[in-house]
Amino acid sequence: MGFWDRFSTDIGVDLGTCNTLIYVRGQGIVVNEPSVVAIERGTKRVMAVGAEAKRMLWKTPSDIIAIRPMADGVIADMDSTEKMIRYFVSRIIKKRHLLRSTRMKIGIPTCITEVEKRAVLEAAYKAGAKDVSVIEESLAAAIGAQIPIHEPAGHMVCDIGGGTTEVSVISLGGMVVTSAIRLGGDKFDEAIIRDVRNMHNLIIGQQTAERLKIAIGNAVSDEEVKKVEIKGTDAITGLPRRLEVASSEVQEALKEPSYQIVEEIKRTLGKTPPELAADIIERGIVMTGGGSLLKGLPKLISQETGVPVILVEHPLDCVAIGAGQAFELYKDIDSDRSIYASLSN
Ligand code: ADP
Ligand code: MG
Repeated sequence: MGFWDRFSTDIGVDLGTCNTLIYVRGQGIVVNEPSVVAIERGTKRVMAVGAEAKRMLWKTPSDIIAIRPMADGVIADMDSTEKMIRYFVSRIIKKRHLLRSTRMKIGIPTCITEVEKRAVLEAAYKAGAKDVSVIEESLAAAIGAQIPIHEPAGHMVCDIGGGTTEVSVISLGGMVVTSAIRLGGDKFDEAIIRDVRNMHNLIIGQQTAERLKIAIGNAVSDEEVKKVEIKGTDAITGLPRRLEVASSEVQEALKEPSYQIVEEIKRTLGKTPPELAADIIERGIVMTGGGSLLKGLPKLISQETGVPVILVEHPLDCVAIGAGQAFELYKDIDSDRSIYASLSN
């Protein structure tokens, strides 16, 4: 055990588009809240962060704005990202001097640019952290899913978040093939919003759409028809109205985004070296991220690719856990192997 291992606190951060999770070595997941910040327009004062701020989203009076700083998988708003990290970190580390002995690793989407990567690191430094590095989300998800990533064998991980879907093949502790699209659970919600409007002239909000998706959504056809009552605004009269939506309609809306994910997985399989592809057929595709909880999605992917699919037990926790555990896992390996990008500060 080295000097750092004895005295430092290892922290893994999953700065997701929907949810932020923080894992502390020896303690487990200590923060699990929506990535939302509510800010007072004039003063820029932070009114609320996390679950409390989410309740304000779409419902705020005009002087308070609730934002999702990581929307679309990147930092859409630098200032609020910093404030969000600062708030969550201050909740777990009360004494500021303790931050000095904290090592923080943040999971970032593979598809983000160098500039965006720096923005993440900068936000964490500004929030008071001293030793910050980043790790590709796919790699973190694989570690968190307890995949033996150092084996000389191919493993495929598919992480479906709110804003992005990442498909990667990992072998010998690094990523061999990776592809990412800016499509995730949010697009499923948007598809539901669009279909309900087109078919029923009813305008619904994102939270209502998400509720429908989780309650009666399915990526494959389901014989049994379930119904859920929702409320929205009539597109013609502008008046509030109730509507009963059938699961078959929701399924129809979810088809297109589901198949886009299938296509991305197929593309990645096509780019995978044959030897590793053989391993993947054997071991299956491992699915992580909240989006993979959509009913029927693992089944659809398996049907369309002919490869078995495994949904991990806690798909929402993998990235944070993996980022936090990466320190231990890679401690004997040359840290320059381009697995981490890090800023000296
Ligand atoms: P991110 O990493 O981008 O923060 P998460 O991994 O936290 O994303 O996943 C959030 C997404 O997962 C959201 O789009 C949410 O609606 C979706 N989700 C969560 N639970 C379910 C479920 N049971 N069924 C379908 N989608 C779900
Ligand atoms: Mg994620």
